[in-house]
Amino acid sequence: MNDQLEGAYDAFHQDLAQRSNSARAFDNFIGGRATPSTGDRRIEVVNPARKSAFASVPDSTDADVDAAVRAAAAQLDGAWGALPGAERGRLILRLADLVERDKELIGRMDAISIGRPVVETQILDLPNALDTMRYFAGWADKITGTAIPTGGYFGRPTHSYTRREPVGVVGAIVPWNTPFMITMWKLAPALAAGCTIVLKPAEETPLSALHLAALATEAGFPDGVINVVTGRGETAGAALVRHPLVAKITFTGGPEAGRAIGRSAADSFKRLSLELGGKSPQIVFPDADLDGAIRGLAMGIFFNQGEVCAAGSRVLVHRSIADKVAAALAGAASGVRLGDPLDPEAQMGALASRAQFDRVAGYIDIAKAEQAELLAGGTVDDSHGLFVRPTVFRGRNDMRIAQEEIFGPVVVVIPFDDEEDALRIANASSYGLAAVVWTSDVARSHRMAARLKAGSVWVNGWAAIDARLPWGGVKQSGAGRENGASALDAYTEIKTVTIVL
Ligand code: NAD
Repeated sequence: MNDQLEGAYDAFHQDLAQRSNSARAFDNFIGGRATPSTGDRRIEVVNPARKSAFASVPDSTDADVDAAVRAAAAQLDGAWGALPGAERGRLILRLADLVERDKELIGRMDAISIGRPVVETQILDLPNALDTMRYFAGWADKITGTAIPTGGYFGRPTHSYTRREPVGVVGAIVPWNTPFMITMWKLAPALAAGCTIVLKPAEETPLSALHLAALATEAGFPDGVINVVTGRGETAGAALVRHPLVAKITFTGGPEAGRAIGRSAADSFKRLSLELGGKSPQIVFPDADLDGAIRGLAMGIFFNQGEVCAAGSRVLVHRSIADKVAAALAGAASGVRLGDPLDPEAQMGALASRAQFDRVAGYIDIAKAEQAELLAGGTVDDSHGLFVRPTVFRGRNDMRIAQEEIFGPVVVVIPFDDEEDALRIANASSYGLAAVVWTSDVARSHRMAARLKAGSVWVNGWAAIDARLPWGGVKQSGAGRENGASALDAYTEIKTVTIVL
């Protein structure tokens, strides 16, 4: 097994070396080609399951960001701006085919950079990203305005209509947890709408973004339509948000960065979409299929090490079955096999970074200090990699572990008395991204769906996301929607035209 694992790493590292230089040092991708940074600072890309750096990217400067934005802006009035929608759609489809060709490599780039099992990228991230690309490719020639009858203009008849035009240069800022999939939620609708893009991937996961930009050139996109500038949030990210030629920022990440970006974007009235964190409840009623529910609860908090914005990190269980469900969830947690991203037997990997590891370990200590009852896990091990055992607490909704986003494999089980009580607890949160209801009562599922304060409600399944379905949060979970036809609104401006006849 060990030889097989090391062989898989050797092959991956050789593959990276061929796409960069022999030290696996990558450049930015600007104007259709790999472009060295104007500065000399670099960021190491680390495998947190081994605590070892395996590549590096530029810690980009304001000048790098400026070059990328100018390349993107030039294409709005260039070959890209002149392309009909049907041609844009065809290019997106061609890019999707190249992503499909390279899906093993892209999955490895992301999984190894955050320490998660590579199999998860192949069952979720890549299929979802490909579906998103093909879905929005179909929209590219269907973005239309409307003719609107009016009473005329000072007694003269008029012909009024709207046009939906690309918003312009889009700055896309992406987190590390499911990087390629979230990147595609931004790029695919932006490209379909005719925008150009400067992408700033997370510090931890820049490689799949750089590869995507190279594939866009191979697919035949005009140079400068998709640019990637790597670097830190407070420098490269902030420069992108400030840049006067950027018309729109689409951001996924934490509320703190979201607030800073919102303030800065307001200076130039940039269009803004924010997809922020969550503290999503999974609510289990006694009439649910309990075996299915327990599998869904475990997946909802242990998939991707719990580093998922929609993680079901609060499990609300009817008091009559609370002991049984809590014990079953603890049993599932104890059975999870931790391992290396490339180990096919691994069910959960390492946490993505030292900061993330310290944050999750800190919350386990906070939970113990708050006297939440520990039912499983609660141990961490950073001797070889940044591993945290899947952890189950039983506690109350007013505890910090039930109110603050941990972004790790830590869940709190909270009993409730009846439907009204479940709703009260579920909605007592500053977040509102998603909520899950486990029940066999159809009427109850609709009642709950109507009253839960969340952007998405799933009944009898966790994370039923799809490119066709709008996605986003209420309250501190964000503003705006990605995916679905409504995502196109985020990348188009409506222009009203009136001809006085
Ligand atoms: P983060 O907010 O620290 O970083 C996200 C991205 O923003 C990174 O690319 C980072 O470099 C950049 N950034 C940070 N500060 C910035 C600034 N001041 N200006 C410009 N860019 C800046 O978040 P993270 O730790 O990478 O990701 C975890 C957070 O993302 C969690 O809160 C999680 O819930 C959220 N998330 C939300 C969704 C969703 O769809 N709602 C999906 C995934 C992750």
